[in-house]
Amino acid sequence: MKSSSLIVSASGVRGKVGEGLTCEVVMRFSAAFGLMKGGKILVACDTRTSSPMFRYAVFSALLSVGCTAVDLGVCPTPSLQLMVKELGAEGGIAITGSHNPPDWNALKFVRSDGLFLFPEEGKELLGICREEKFQRKSWRKLGRVCRDNSAILRHIKKILEFVDVENIRSKNFKVVIDAGNGAGALATPVLLEKLGCKTICLNCEMKGNFARLPEPVPSNLKGLCRLVKETGADVGFAHDADADRLALVPDGGEAISEEYTLAVACRSVLEKVQGPVVVNICTSAMIEDIAANFNCPVKRTPVGDVNVSRCMRESLAVIGGEGNGGVIYPLLNYARDGIMAVALALDFLARKDTPLSTILRELPSYHMIKEKIPHPGISMEELIERVREEFGQGKLNFEDGVKVTLPEGWVHIRPSGTEPILRVISEAKRRDFSEELLIRAKKIIKRCARKS
Ligand code: MG
Repeated sequence: MKSSSLIVSASGVRGKVGEGLTCEVVMRFSAAFGLMKGGKILVACDTRTSSPMFRYAVFSALLSVGCTAVDLGVCPTPSLQLMVKELGAEGGIAITGSHNPPDWNALKFVRSDGLFLFPEEGKELLGICREEKFQRKSWRKLGRVCRDNSAILRHIKKILEFVDVENIRSKNFKVVIDAGNGAGALATPVLLEKLGCKTICLNCEMKGNFARLPEPVPSNLKGLCRLVKETGADVGFAHDADADRLALVPDGGEAISEEYTLAVACRSVLEKVQGPVVVNICTSAMIEDIAANFNCPVKRTPVGDVNVSRCMRESLAVIGGEGNGGVIYPLLNYARDGIMAVALALDFLARKDTPLSTILRELPSYHMIKEKIPHPGISMEELIERVREEFGQGKLNFEDGVKVTLPEGWVHIRPSGTEPILRVISEAKRRDFSEELLIRAKKIIKRCARKS
């Protein structure tokens, strides 16, 4: 199980197909999860070419430990998370590489309340995985597979309870949806139809080779931007492969950061109901500005949807998520949900009756730069030491990697939990300040890398 291309985190396991992530690894983790939870386990997958192979490995493992595997087929992760709760299942397994490139895949493990495994449960799972021999069932007590095709429609029906359907329908929005050839292709066009939108589909064929890279960031959404402009659409939407994330493209087709998705969702919700907002440590400071307008507090957590979900539940937050396009709407579920985020964005657009491009201009303006640096195997202790030397005058936060906040902006460095890279993010009101912070952080990383 030890491989440089296998990443084991609290809530799942992720790797390159056939290298770090093999059928053997998938079976071991799935059987361990089945032993831990027992009973009924829901299984969903994305459209990757490797997903069918892993899907059968997951079934086989679950059956061998006596679980009932409920096959949801190709299905967005947020639909799976909701269904686990709705069907009273003991847990769920999402087979999806999410935003990773097509040669990757992963398993994400869902608790009976629809949240991903908490870190302490992740440790328990790893403990079971490491045991020499599993307690497999005898032939008399093997589990079975049954099929359920209702997840996506049930999910959409629930989403429609939280938005003003008639108002949205009255606007006859023209919308382009780029599902990135992922599982969202089965859900979002259906939602848009129910909301009376004239829908133009891009990358909505279920192809595991993906016409674009799955991460919904501006560099991967050139086709969507072009189509929004050419068709004169009101808005463009883009998902990653399992549709827990959403990026927006405003009328006119200008590419914008995926950070705006949560900003729009926050404004949409806080206008209707005020309460705490929870976001992760590296989400744009736009959120504080928006929340301040409504006198609402903002709490920040380490990166990872389970950290945000957990804090939202504890603090009775009304909205939250991650700046990467992950919106969590707690009245539906404590899960990042790109499909719910589409409904919230359209609800807001309909209520304002103003083009999205105009609404975005009214939002506080920041310059955020996100970079990925191949993980040079540096020690975080060393990095933190160098950061202290370089940014001694700043406010330092070590909850997740290291974040430095200065009067002019902030910079955050952390090892990714999903890829073998360091993520470096800087943000400031002025672009040159943001660039300067990023350069200083990269210099520190370089110095640490040379030493190691
Ligand atoms: Mg995802």
